[in-house]
Amino acid sequence: MKKNYLTKNSQETKKVGRILAQEILKKRRSQDQAIVLGLIGDLGGGKTTFLQGFAKGLGIQNRITSPTFVIMKRFRISRFIFHNFYHFDCYRVKEPKELLDLDFEKIISIPQNIVAVEWADRVRDILPRDALILEFEFIDEKTRKIVLK
Ligand code: ADP
Ligand code: MG
Repeated sequence: MKKNYLTKNSQETKKVGRILAQEILKKRRSQDQAIVLGLIGDLGGGKTTFLQGFAKGLGIQNRITSPTFVIMKRFRISRFIFHNFYHFDCYRVKEPKELLDLDFEKIISIPQNIVAVEWADRVRDILPRDALILEFEFIDEKTRKIVLK
């Protein structure tokens, strides 16, 4: 499902996130583990902005932020089989063990979870092989390239 987007402002990036969330919900195919998104790419590339739109698409009202000291946040959802959205931000993570200590393996094993991991390249070894990888590239002040791999 390779796709490319060029967004011209943060609203457009949020919209791409919202549409992806809606597509995931629409498929309604029960899987045997969590749906995992790995977000990689430049600082300021739009990963958190994208997840704000993604969370909205999941029906989450809370604002998604860049956690300064928190690596993980959980949001409750109630959409089809899905009950939780987990937002991991690995900007400050030095080794995958820090995620394993937060029960990462269990979280990604539960089909009712949707899990998004920012700076996923720092923990690539512990991501499931079928994780959806999204790459964010800073083109200029207002332009971002988003590649769904
Ligand atoms: P990351 O999480 O990848 O470090 P953020 O989403 O936190 O990036 O930051 C992106 C910044 O760039 C925000 O301040 C946002 O307002 C700005 N921005 C400008 N143009 C865009 C765009 N097209 N898409 C996303 N963010 C944009
Ligand atoms: Mg971020």
